[in-house]
Amino acid sequence: MHKIHHLVDGQPMVGASGRTSPVYNPATGEQTGELDLADVGEVDAIVASARKAFEEWKNLSVAKRTRLMFRFRELVDSNANEIAQRLTAEHGKVTSDSMGEVARAIENIEYACGLAEHLKGGYNENASTGVDVYTVQRPLGVVAGITPFNFPAMVPLWMIPNAVACGNTFVLKPSEKDPSAPMFIAELFQEAGFPPGVLNVVHGDKVAVDRLLEHPDVKAVSFVGSTPIAKYVHQTASANGKRVQALAGAKNHMVVLPDADLDMAADAAVSAAYGSAGERCMAISVAVAVGGIGDELVDAVRVRMDKLSIGSGTDPASEMGPLVTREHRDKVARYIGIGADEGATVVVDGRDTRFEGDGFFIGTTLIDNVTTDMTVYRDEIFGPVLCVVRADTYQEAVDLISANPWGNGTAIFTRDGGAARQFQEDADAGMVGINVPVPVPVGYHSFGGWKDSLFGDTTIYGPEGFRFYTRPKVITSRWPDPAESTVNLGFPQNN
Ligand code: NAD
Repeated sequence: MHKIHHLVDGQPMVGASGRTSPVYNPATGEQTGELDLADVGEVDAIVASARKAFEEWKNLSVAKRTRLMFRFRELVDSNANEIAQRLTAEHGKVTSDSMGEVARAIENIEYACGLAEHLKGGYNENASTGVDVYTVQRPLGVVAGITPFNFPAMVPLWMIPNAVACGNTFVLKPSEKDPSAPMFIAELFQEAGFPPGVLNVVHGDKVAVDRLLEHPDVKAVSFVGSTPIAKYVHQTASANGKRVQALAGAKNHMVVLPDADLDMAADAAVSAAYGSAGERCMAISVAVAVGGIGDELVDAVRVRMDKLSIGSGTDPASEMGPLVTREHRDKVARYIGIGADEGATVVVDGRDTRFEGDGFFIGTTLIDNVTTDMTVYRDEIFGPVLCVVRADTYQEAVDLISANPWGNGTAIFTRDGGAARQFQEDADAGMVGINVPVPVPVGYHSFGGWKDSLFGDTTIYGPEGFRFYTRPKVITSRWPDPAESTVNLGFPQNN
């Protein structure tokens, strides 16, 4: 059994709390690892290491920090296959999804490589006569990142490169479900030459998270996970005086107008609803069929579902893998039953698909005639379940999105430029796709939803990441007139 320990000062630290958590291969159901869970004293030791490292790291030159970041980028890129293997082994997603995750993660390191440009302050000469005013961006100190199971490589890299580029040191608390990929990335970070303590990893559950949220030396918290925990993290860390960004759950709607390219829309619905087994915060979980397009859309999606190959993520033929845990698979199965009981039409029932072995598999599900009062519409299912809601008009579709408590991403499918432009304005969500079902911004924009999908003031990575991980210092300076100097400096007035 693979033992997974904390990483402190660049070295593994064996857990001393006596508490551990099992790690599984979701494709086989086997336990493959055992993860240390930290107690309060261990969290304190790990934060102390980051606090110590901060004193030197904050003053390392921009040139040296940039070179380290480039080296890290090269190491992550050249080890992409190994990272992807670890993702598939513990998360279950298929290898192509894992490779995609690594590619999106690298974008964020590349953005941080431009730290010299991003950390340029502002300068006003002669703001008042002889007075100059300038702003510099200073780091915060130790910052913590608490990350979810569904993107164990990418989400930590939404945070770490930007945070350390700004001169902070970082404590990562990855998901306990799939910790091996982030551990390997942390090892690559050491190999790149970053000083020990600039990035530490602590494994744990609520005990570790609570300590990070109250620790006086943790100055900021980046959280990504479910809405109830995001709310809790935001409230607790804010009450303890920390800067917080807490990205949360979602229920993303894809609006299909009657003039949409049906093949394009159906392909998009299938890949966005069932890709990574629906375990993506930007997954499409509701298709809103406007006007008369509902029956055709449901048929086109169903035909494609029949062809989808579900199996172990390591099999190159698989397009969808298992869910992350047995409990989660069973929860998704329960939701399908609730949908049927509440009167929706279960067109394809994922519970009917049979799989060999003990893996945490479930088939894909399509539920039609869903209404907004149903549990399958109101709850985030976070599995391979697509609900179809029928709407008579564009306005009805937009109103659904506005009334939904979440506002992460949304998309519209249409051939009409005017309608698309109107939707871009009307959509009550932080990220909008136009004929793009999963509009995750590139690394040089920033990511984040609205409403119950984000608690805090800044979105994550890109320019907002640099803003979150720095605080401005504004200097106002005035110097005596050199012409009035008691030393003759050769100015005309001196002579
Ligand atoms: P989760 O909220 O269960 O866990 C996230 C992190 O919080 C983990 O590190 C976990 O150990 C910790 N945690 C869990 N329970 C806790 C508690 N009671 N107290 C303190 N810490 C706790 O989320 P998950 O199941 O790992 O991830 C899936 C969720 O994340 C979904 O809701 C998904 O929509 C969301 N998500 C959102 C985004 C986004 O950018 N908005 C991105 C990815 C995932």
